[in-house]
Amino acid sequence: MSKLSSKQLDEFRQRLVSAREDLRTQYENEKAAADTVQLDQTKVGRLSRMDAMQLQSMAQSTMRNIETRLKRIGEALNKLDEDDFGYCDECGNEIALERLEVQPEAPCCFACQSRQER
Ligand SMILES: [Zn+2]
Repeated sequence: MSKLSSKQLDEFRQRLVSAREDLRTQYENEKAAADTVQLDQTKVGRLSRMDAMQLQSMAQSTMRNIETRLKRIGEALNKLDEDDFGYCDECGNEIALERLEVQPEAPCCFACQSRQER
């Protein structure tokens, strides 16, 4: 059971849902950008092959980042549905509210994340 008030939980849900919308839009833009690069390359040839490849790989790496964030947001929303939001996936402790304020999709507490990044 979450210690957060239902008002707080609603706010987090709203933030997560709107972040998801934004990311989906961004993802479509990146995808369009990556496709455009390819078209320009074959039709116009304004960009050198290297430039086109570089632009495309940048767009692809942005798309991968967006996919990762979308996945985390989806998981955070599942946790909200299961009344499990605000708890660390790793150790089960509460995630600090300050951390959730900054990053509502954070799957684990600061200590566990630091451990994973080492
Ligand atoms: Zn933890």
